[in-house]
Amino acid sequence: MENVQVEGKVLKGAEFLIKETDAQNVFIPEEFNEEQLMVADAAREFITQRVIPNTEKLEKHDIPLLTKLLEESGEYGLLATAIPEEYEGTQQDFLTNTLLTEANSLGGSFALTMGAHTGIGTLPILYFGNPAQKAKYLPKLATGELKAAYCLTEPGSGSDALAAKSKAVLSEDGKHYILNGQKMWITNGGLADVFCVFAKIDGEKFTGFIVEAAYEGVTRGAEERKLGIKGSSTCQIFFENVKVPVENVLGEIGRGHVIAFNILNIGRIKLAAGTIGGAKIAATTSIKYANERKQFKRSIGTFGAIQHKLGEQAIRIYAGESATYRSAADIQAMEEKLMHEGKPYSQALLGAAEEYAIECALLKVVGSEALDYVVDEGVQIFGGMGYSEEAPMARNYRDARINRIFEGTNEINRMLVIDMLLKRAMKGQLDIMSPAMAVQKELMTPPSFGGSGDSGFLAAEKKAVQSMKKAVLMTLGATAQKLMQKLQDEQEILMYLSDMIAEVYVAESTILRTEKLVATRGEAACQGQIDMTSVFVADAVERLGLNGRNAIRAWAEGDERRMLLMGLRRFTKFEGVNTKNARRRIAQQLLDADEYCF
Ligand SMILES: Cc1cc2nc3c(=O)[nH]c(=O)nc-3n(C[C@H](O)[C@H](O)[C@H](O)COP(=O)(O)OP(=O)(O)OC[C@H]3O[C@@H](n4cnc5c(N)ncnc54)[C@H](O)[C@@H]3O)c2cc1C
Repeated sequence: MENVQVEGKVLKGAEFLIKETDAQNVFIPEEFNEEQLMVADAAREFITQRVIPNTEKLEKHDIPLLTKLLEESGEYGLLATAIPEEYEGTQQDFLTNTLLTEANSLGGSFALTMGAHTGIGTLPILYFGNPAQKAKYLPKLATGELKAAYCLTEPGSGSDALAAKSKAVLSEDGKHYILNGQKMWITNGGLADVFCVFAKIDGEKFTGFIVEAAYEGVTRGAEERKLGIKGSSTCQIFFENVKVPVENVLGEIGRGHVIAFNILNIGRIKLAAGTIGGAKIAATTSIKYANERKQFKRSIGTFGAIQHKLGEQAIRIYAGESATYRSAADIQAMEEKLMHEGKPYSQALLGAAEEYAIECALLKVVGSEALDYVVDEGVQIFGGMGYSEEAPMARNYRDARINRIFEGTNEINRMLVIDMLLKRAMKGQLDIMSPAMAVQKELMTPPSFGGSGDSGFLAAEKKAVQSMKKAVLMTLGATAQKLMQKLQDEQEILMYLSDMIAEVYVAESTILRTEKLVATRGEAACQGQIDMTSVFVADAVERLGLNGRNAIRAWAEGDERRMLLMGLRRFTKFEGVNTKNARRRIAQQLLDADEYCF
């Protein structure tokens, strides 16, 4: 726990938009301690020895082997790290669990099998189970003796999860709920012993249930034929007059949505960590190929076009990673604060993740899209071999794609970011309106041209991020004021705004990481990181500006339109470094290391 920020210096959820953060108060991945790194190494060791040699078999739906490997990972201790010791777990802190998720990504589809078990499968019982339920299930889930799955989605309800048709009715003797329904796309469906199922009591009260696979009336469909992650089990689960004991109701009747949605906050940041891990592996594969493959008597890594791709892969990984672990540490610090105030462990982590739900949603989008960029350009770097199942990149490409779909599609997560932000503003939890008004006022004054603030380490980039915040506050404030309730029907604008906010968070996190790193290692040792930060910020400013213009053009007219567009120009004015040369330098460093090395 030594590597968490000092209490009181951590910003609350989404406050990054209106407040500044000192680099000394952020956690950076370079600060993981030995113990935490050892947990990640142990996972990699297990996967290298046991999972990777079995990849081909797993890809062909060898469910008994998948089950055995999941059990072995349990024996190895990899399923117990979020579970308290009183339930046979080894309860590691949140940062360690997030890092473990990144390390597990080495296992490709198998990471999903572990993640669904330890995450959405086990956490509902850990967070919402009563003491008897925890005592019954958690020790066996910690060892892998029992395997878990999470059943929310149905053929007719995915994004609109609360429209589920599965129904539970209390039996006449009051001892059971009779469950009927059909769930779809259930990860670990083919091997789970315990399902966390959501159904409506009397067709109305959305409620969670713990359902054992052994109960009469529970059947599994055939394995889905998927685009990727073929080594994981996904199938439909059918419930036909299943007698679920009343003591298996999870949490409060009618409050299943609290379980379903809260579990997803943690799932989303973990997904971001997993995508960062997957992207690092795909980047290394790309770098090695760029070194090996020769065309026109040169290795392809010497071509500028390829160096651009290698550089950009690294930039997106480094930036996404900076933001992911910044948030993970904030969640951990908040969790510790809540525990200090007397909340039990499970409630504290849940509350902390809810506090940073906005960050979790945007990280899910950022991570999954960074991974898709990396694997897509990875295929391109491999040329024809990128299209061959004989080389690793084709599978990486197929496996990556799911991340934009589950844990809430990226569209749903983008909309959630704005929805949650405006709700917090309306409840008075986050004052975005006063800073937004201040920015509008600033627009009435002439811009300052003094470059004096631009000297010093990454000073221009820092100033650019401050201006990006102003651009967001101006655009969001004016749009929300004008459209009010109608904003929720203008989804394109919600997407633009959400992307603007993500750019701010990721750009700032990247600067803070590099700044902290330079403070310990010195500038000379961090040239790659400095280049990555400068390029990321330069491009982020442009992307933010475009999204802002699209948002404003969507509704503003006349003088207001002109004034807001002028404001955007003012707040996105940034000279930036020579990004072509910076990417070349980054690529050269990667090629020299022959792996992703940041
Ligand atoms: C391999 C795999 C594993 C999965 N594992 C699990 C699991 O273990 N447990 C589980 O419960 N579920 C699981 N899912 C389900 C997954 O969470 C859903 O597929 C996902 O939430 C999307 O729902 P859907 O497929 O019904 O798509 P839809 O909701 O029909 O969405 C289709 C498209 O419409 C968009 N859309 C939907 N609503 C809106 C809206 N209001 N505004 C704008 N756009 C909208 C979506 O973004 C998407 O682009 C899994 C899915 C897959 C493919």
